[in-house]
Formats: sequence, structure tokens, C-alpha cells
Amino acid sequence: MIIKNIWAVGRNYADHAKELGNTVPAQPMIFLKAGTCATLDSSIQIPKWTEDVHHELEIALQWDDKLHFSQMTLALDLTERKKQAELKSLGHPWTLAKSFTNSCPIATQWTPYIAHETYTLSLFKNQKLVQNGKSSDMIHTILNLKKFVESHFPVASGDLLLTGTPAGVGPLAAGDQLRAELRNSHHEVLIEQSWVVA
Ligand code: ZN
Repeated sequence: MIIKNIWAVGRNYADHAKELGNTVPAQPMIFLKAGTCATLDSSIQIPKWTEDVHHELEIALQWDDKLHFSQMTLALDLTERKKQAELKSLGHPWTLAKSFTNSCPIATQWTPYIAHETYTLSLFKNQKLVQNGKSSDMIHTILNLKKFVESHFPVASGDLLLTGTPAGVGPLAAGDQLRAELRNSHHEVLIEQSWVVA
């Protein structure tokens, strides 16, 4: 299915909002990444003009042809943190910091989405655990995010929802090895994905 749009939410885990010194919004804070930012390449191609690209591991859900969430995967919401800070201070849109070329690597595996399940997402950078969170720690639930996005935006089948990142975001450097895991409440691995930074 073609990904036309990537609807993403900022500050959806309190611990991550805190690490960036942000307040937690009462209403979901939605931003867009172009659908063409999505890439299945396991080699992360960071644009040359960037200076400080951070990893943000997120649960990604896909609207199916009935606009239900039938399947999910993991995605990296790559973010140019230096540009984002500049744009934020100017009150400008985040497009340059969030929607640059190759800014949304997605895992090649998918797993069915089960609404009552609690999912754990983990990211290891060079074998060290750097990000770890649970879907139950989200400020806005997946269902509420889905309702909010659908009631405000022109969602299309194939679109992705990125549900926010837990604490532990950090910079990427050439040669870094990333491994992401999605587990269910029985600790079974549902998705496993490795990337290497080119
Ligand atoms: Zn994010």
C-alpha cells in the first residue's frame, strides 16, 4: 500500500517531553512527515546538510483500506534536533527538521494490531539499550490519536500514524548499529529490525 501521509504526534510520552524540556499538551500535537520520507532501506542515509540527527523509535500503525488499524510496525522518526530547536524558537514549522529525505525508516515486518494489548518498544544503539517504553505509557492512546487525526485531517488508506517516542532519544553517527524490538505483554518478539547508519 502506498504511504501518502505520515501523521506523527509530538510529546506523547511524559518522560520524553521532560527530557526535551517541553510541557505535555492537553490535545495531541500533530505534525506531518511526507509519505515519501518512508524507506525500507536497512542502511540509514542521512542527508549531508544535517548536523544533529536523532533517533526516535515509535510504534507505527497503518490505516487499511477500510481505514482501520489492522497492522503495526516500528518506525524511526528521524529528527534534525538542531534545526528543530531553531525552528521552535522562531515559532516556525518543523518541516525541515522532521520531513527531510529518508527521515522515516520503517521495519520490514508487520504484526496485527490488537487494541487491548500492551506493547513494549526497545531500541539498542551499538548493543546498548537507549530507548524503552510501553504503549500503556502514552499520554494519548492509539485509539484517541486515531480519532483525533481522522476528525481533523484527510487520512488516506496506507497512511501511517507515528505514536510518539519514549525517553532516550540521541544522535546518530556513521557506522552506528541500531536494533529495534517490539514485544507483546508475554515478552514475545513481534518485530525485530536492524539498521546501520551509512
Ligand atoms: Zn517523534
